[in-house]
Amino acid sequence: MESKKRTIDARLRAVAEEKRCPVQRCIAYVDRFLSEVMCGRCFPCALGTVEAKARLARIADGRGDHEDLAALRYIAENMLVGSLCKKGGNTAAYLLECMTYDAFAAHTEGKCSDRVCEAFIEYRIVADKCTMCGECKAVCAYNAILGMEKTASHDTGFSPFEIREKRCLKKGDCLEVCPVGAIVVAEKPVSKVAAEAYKCGVY
Ligand code: SF4
Ligand code: SF4
Repeated sequence: MESKKRTIDARLRAVAEEKRCPVQRCIAYVDRFLSEVMCGRCFPCALGTVEAKARLARIADGRGDHEDLAALRYIAENMLVGSLCKKGGNTAAYLLECMTYDAFAAHTEGKCSDRVCEAFIEYRIVADKCTMCGECKAVCAYNAILGMEKTASHDTGFSPFEIREKRCLKKGDCLEVCPVGAIVVAEKPVSKVAAEAYKCGVY
């Protein structure tokens, strides 16, 4: 019976594993699970997945800590043994499998090594590579890119291209159009991740 529950749903795994980051994989798996019909015969699965989703969101957006990790493990372990249906057990097994990756602890320390979770990354323009063609600025729908403004009214110089992080939605349109690969996805300094999490008023 136990080994049956541990067979992870290949269909949901395929959806999840389109993501590089293990935390995002779990979010995708749980989202898909919650979007489908639930039998509603037991609590561990119905309540556990909703709480797991909330904990995963905290971990993915830089507000997670060791309590979230412990809670997620507790939920998954209880779902694994307490869910009456195979789907609940499968979801728990997938969560536990992903939690074996260091990525979970790394997120609580301010890093997404796969550079996927938006709270931990920023888009940057490498000045040495930028040819000032303006393609990125033209494609950015959020007016997040500055560049080619006159440095002073009496001056003939222009400012370099740069991304205003507060406006950037991190969807990567600029990265796709840059003809010389001058835009990179960089890890955000841990101090900035922590400061933004603090601003959310959670700590
Ligand atoms: S990632 Fe999107 S929002 Fe951010 S600078 Fe590039 S195009 Fe603009
Ligand atoms: S598209 Fe690339 S090369 Fe052109 S201005 Fe933007 S960063 Fe510079």
